[in-house]
Amino acid sequence: MAKLTVHIIRAKDFNTSDFKKVELFLKKLQSLDRHNFKFRFNDSDQIINEKDVEKRAYNFNEYEEAKLLKSDYFKNYFDNHPEKKQEIIAALKKDENYTTWENLFEVCNKYRYENKIKHEEQIVLLTNTNNWCKANKDISDWFGANSENPDNNSFVHTNLWEFYLPGIEKTYPISYMILLLLIIKKSRIGYVKYANTLTHKESIGCISDFTDSKLDVILKLRTGDICDKCLNELLKTINAAHINSYCLMLDEIRSKTLFNRRALGLYGTSKVIVQTINDAEYPFRSVYFEGFKIYLELNARELSVYLYLLNNEEGLPAGREKIEDTSTKVISEIAKFYAGQKMTDIKEAKESVRNWFTITNAGGNNIEVIKNKINKNLKKIIPDQSIRNNYEITLDIKESFYKINIDREELLIWN
Ligand SMILES: [Zn+2]
Repeated sequence: MAKLTVHIIRAKDFNTSDFKKVELFLKKLQSLDRHNFKFRFNDSDQIINEKDVEKRAYNFNEYEEAKLLKSDYFKNYFDNHPEKKQEIIAALKKDENYTTWENLFEVCNKYRYENKIKHEEQIVLLTNTNNWCKANKDISDWFGANSENPDNNSFVHTNLWEFYLPGIEKTYPISYMILLLLIIKKSRIGYVKYANTLTHKESIGCISDFTDSKLDVILKLRTGDICDKCLNELLKTINAAHINSYCLMLDEIRSKTLFNRRALGLYGTSKVIVQTINDAEYPFRSVYFEGFKIYLELNARELSVYLYLLNNEEGLPAGREKIEDTSTKVISEIAKFYAGQKMTDIKEAKESVRNWFTITNAGGNNIEVIKNKINKNLKKIIPDQSIRNNYEITLDIKESFYKINIDREELLIWN
């Protein structure tokens, strides 16, 4: 069976930098998945019709507050960041925008119509707007839902995860919710029916834990598990190989949310923010190390290569033959960065970029020299090698590719 094509889109209220992170992470999950999903992303603003949007207070109560602040999961976080307590509680007590499920699914339908998306392809809308269901008054504040058959639309509520799960990137619960909706869709069980009849009211660390509060999601994130009962249910309609492949993705999320991984080299690191400096005369992008409070100083050529490698996990091919295989695509992508930086003509930029690759051993111009220069400048701002490993360009000799092994979900922000 062919993979299900899934279009991930965002409402205007879910910002583009968070969307980019979800995109990078889902692309990584997709590379582990041989059978299930083919993701497509569209970063443009989708507008939720305001007629059904209203402000409401979310029911964040004393019980939840106490549970969050006393949670053993986050005790260490709150001990180290006492100032965050009030900030988090205040954020959770704020009114939220609410709208109906019907209105959210309408955004998907409009997108489908305007972009000529086939009926059988799934659309998932990411939105900070909270929800209630017009058709069923008992339903509100769901973390996501699928429309009933025969429509193939879904939404995921993206707001507040960072406050309920402090210290954990919200990319992970959001991606988890997307995967959950998709496997239920694939099983052909209606989502409301699934939630009402098949979920575990008390959390046991299974994808089907009902999780009344976002706080409770942490258990299933960190087990990445599907219990026996739910596995048997899924096997009625989904091939075991597909479920296996699906579990590899859950495993990847799990590994990202384990607390012990903080011992694996994430201490002392800094987020890298790629931002555009807005200057009408001379707009350009730059790389800022938030934790070290310093910009990485690079010339246009070096910056183009560095940005390219940050943006492309698979890296740049080393060696002339390999480069010529992929040169057109690589050169034109880098040239885009280069042209933006120097405001040069794209054709001229392509020519310059081509030269860096083809003039080997001509001091100053080839990719190895560019790599060394970048790494040298990184060394000036990050003396500790074990931390620098996160940001440096390395040559993977076995694959013969230049790469940056940065933890893109944890450390990279595109602004
Ligand atoms: Zn279960």
